[in-house]
Amino acid sequence: MVHPVYADLPTTIFEVMSGLAREHGAINLGQGFPDEPGPLAVRQRAASESVEGYNQYPPMRGLPALREAAARHYARFQGLDLDAGTEVTVTSGATEALAAAFLSLISPGDEVVLFQPLYDAYLPMVRRAGGIPKLATLKPPHFRIDRAMLEAVFSPRTRMVVLNNPVNPAATLWADEDLALLAEFCVAHDAVAVCDEVWEQIVFEGRTFKPLMAFPGMRERTVKIGSAGKMFALTGWKVGFLCAAPALMKALAGAHQFLTFTTPPNLQAAVAWGLDNSADWFAAMPGDLQRSRDRLTAGLTDAGFKVLPAAGTYFLNVDLAASGIDEPDHAFCLRAAKDHGVAAIPISAFYEEDAPTHLIRLCFAKGDGTLDAGVERLARARGQPNPSSRP
Ligand code: PMP
Ligand code: GLN
Repeated sequence: MVHPVYADLPTTIFEVMSGLAREHGAINLGQGFPDEPGPLAVRQRAASESVEGYNQYPPMRGLPALREAAARHYARFQGLDLDAGTEVTVTSGATEALAAAFLSLISPGDEVVLFQPLYDAYLPMVRRAGGIPKLATLKPPHFRIDRAMLEAVFSPRTRMVVLNNPVNPAATLWADEDLALLAEFCVAHDAVAVCDEVWEQIVFEGRTFKPLMAFPGMRERTVKIGSAGKMFALTGWKVGFLCAAPALMKALAGAHQFLTFTTPPNLQAAVAWGLDNSADWFAAMPGDLQRSRDRLTAGLTDAGFKVLPAAGTYFLNVDLAASGIDEPDHAFCLRAAKDHGVAAIPISAFYEEDAPTHLIRLCFAKGDGTLDAGVERLARARGQPNPSSRP
């Protein structure tokens, strides 16, 4: 009756923790979404497009205005030269873009290289498409790769590599030399790289984000995925981008047309406008989030927590063991949400095997008051371990 991938699939940890936060009235530092409502002008544009604009089916690959704006955006920020007509498709969020990529580019039995920790949507979708996951594990605190690690997971049957950069949940940015090494393996094995780069606009300390597509040999074999939800702090909008050379795009668009076919045109038009008119927003966002990261880090450090460095995304990780807390991540997070009114995400949820159980992820895209209250509640949670909540 039920496909084996879905038979025992648990509910995603983001929904579980947000559900607990709602139930217990907890501060939600778990699921990644900002407190603030997103740029007013972009939201106003969506409103006026809903009232005065065109609200019937837009073209299957997306409004030309948005595809052109996305191509300009990626030229401006990442030096890419994408043809809006043949190399950009608009999707209903990055999630749909990932599904389209896996469904259209994986054949049963193809090996797919992925890196742990991994965003929780990847494995079920890869498996449902018939792919055989080959997992390499990035180790805290630096989450780097090396040649031996890649040699262990690549084989003549490798068809695809899935890269997430910046990394959710590790909050790291892949080093240039690691990207170059990965590109070398993709070329040598004639593999496609599916690059989930939804956090591309959120990197700190003035770092620049480099797409894998820009590395030698990768232009024709990369599927680049973006998310306007992340770019504009509008996570509920679910407007995403697929970017790829025309031969790949033909297959991707084939899958997209029977997943969602199109994405709401009012939101597409607003994002198109936003991409061309948000220089101030894009300039300010990383600095604003960096200040929030630093505030949360300082508060947690003062409260005796050991915080891992965060170079990108709006997440940071706390090392429970190094903070003197001898409790598995999942048990700590359940207790923190239920008994102390603060939700976090256990990092073990991002692993299929050999999961570390001493790290939790916190979202800092929140107002100062929320962050301060979150620290206070986490400090209370650390003070009162409750052995009965352990699994
Ligand atoms: N990939 C990663 C790594 C993410 O963190 C997220 C959402 N936070 C997504 C994909 C999904 O993006 P969207 O909401 O645009 O579907
Ligand atoms: N990507 C978001 C996060 O990491 C959650 C998205 C979702 O709930 N599916 O928190």
